[in-house]
Amino acid sequence: MKAVVYDALGSVGLSDIDVPKPAADEVLIRVEASGVCHTDIEILHGGYGNADFPLVPGHEYAGTVEEVGADVKGFKAGDRVVVDPNLSCGTCRACRRGLTNLCETLGAYGVSTNGGFAEYSTVKAENLVSIGDMPFDMAALAEPMGCVLNGGP
Ligand SMILES: [Zn+2]
Ligand SMILES: [Zn+2]
Repeated sequence: MKAVVYDALGSVGLSDIDVPKPAADEVLIRVEASGVCHTDIEILHGGYGNADFPLVPGHEYAGTVEEVGADVKGFKAGDRVVVDPNLSCGTCRACRRGLTNLCETLGAYGVSTNGGFAEYSTVKAENLVSIGDMPFDMAALAEPMGCVLNGGP
C-alpha cells in the first residue's frame, strides 16, 4: 500500500509498504480521510514524540473497517469509524485517576506507532468510535476538536 513515511529526522517520502495485519484486539481500517496537523511537522523534526523512525504519521483520521481481529467485538467490515489516536498505559498515577491524556508514557497513532497517512491502518478496537453517516473528512476533525474543547486551563 502507499504510505507517507518518515524515514529519519527531517526525511519524508511516499513509500510502498505492506498492508498491516490486525492483532487479536485490533481492526484494520481503510483510511478515507486524514488531517494534517502542525504536530506532524514537529514529529518530523524531533520536536514532539521520540523520533522513533520509520513512522507513518497522521493522528486525525477516519475510515471504513476492512477486517477485525479474532477477539474484536462490536465492529464488523464496512463500519464507518473515527480513530481516537491516544494510547495510554492504564496503570500510571494519571491513568488511575482517569486522566489518560496526561499518561506518563502517552503514545499515539501517528506519533509513537504508525498512523493514518496510509491506505490502511491497524488500530485497537477500543480506540475506535462509530460515526454513523457523518462525512469522513468531518469525522477526522474529532481529534483537533477534542483538543480545542479540552485544552487550556
Ligand atoms: Zn494534531
Ligand atoms: Zn498512564
